[in-house]
Amino acid sequence: MKFIAGNWKMNGTRTALKEMVDALQNVDTENKVILCVPYTMLGLNSGKVSLGAQDVSAHEKGAYTGEISAAMIAETGAKYVIVGHSERRQYHEETNDIVRQKAELALSAGLTPIICVGETMEEKQAGKTMAVIESGVRESIPSDVNQDIIVAYEPRWAIGAGLTPTEAEIAEAHKLIADTLNNMGLYGTPVLYGASVKATNAAEIMSIPNVDGVLVGGASLKPDDFIPIITSVK
Ligand code: PEP
Repeated sequence: MKFIAGNWKMNGTRTALKEMVDALQNVDTENKVILCVPYTMLGLNSGKVSLGAQDVSAHEKGAYTGEISAAMIAETGAKYVIVGHSERRQYHEETNDIVRQKAELALSAGLTPIICVGETMEEKQAGKTMAVIESGVRESIPSDVNQDIIVAYEPRWAIGAGLTPTEAEIAEAHKLIADTLNNMGLYGTPVLYGASVKATNAAEIMSIPNVDGVLVGGASLKPDDFIPIITSVK
């Protein structure tokens, strides 16, 4: 079983979600399909697909106009929330500390956080990829986790750019993440790969050791693109 998670970012409509959910009902798969959609689409009937949010407030409640708390997300019936997505880190200056606070609140509300880590092009070129990934994992994950979490490795330079690292680079990053998680006592935590996944590379990427699934942006928006990714692996 692999995790196939879609990230719709700020795209789609409630009608489009209904069309996607309808299209997914007849897909024969044992993979776990998750759609992380804009807040306004949470709470819609999603059949066998689990819904998730794409961000959560770092505060529990109160005077934070415009923010959405973990408890509010959980109340919609959503099960997952992405935290630390590269676009949040880039445009909203989210640090590992903020990501960890968000993950903590998600966990207390019973949500499974999908915690994203990954290096920028600048960090890659400076030879810091492994250090950034390891500190991202160590600093973004709350201590004493005793619930499910998911980690996503998303090389930031490759997201939405149609670029992908080599298989060897993905394997190296995922081995480091798996080893780091084991050192933290978080055995068996699923680690997803994300950045420019599409039907033509999904199976190959998911055959790399320690890749437990994929986080898909652009190619998760349309059933014709997303379904072949889901069915590309058993
Ligand atoms: C993402 O936004 O998490 C992502 C992986 O995007 P894309 O697949 O479009 O690169």
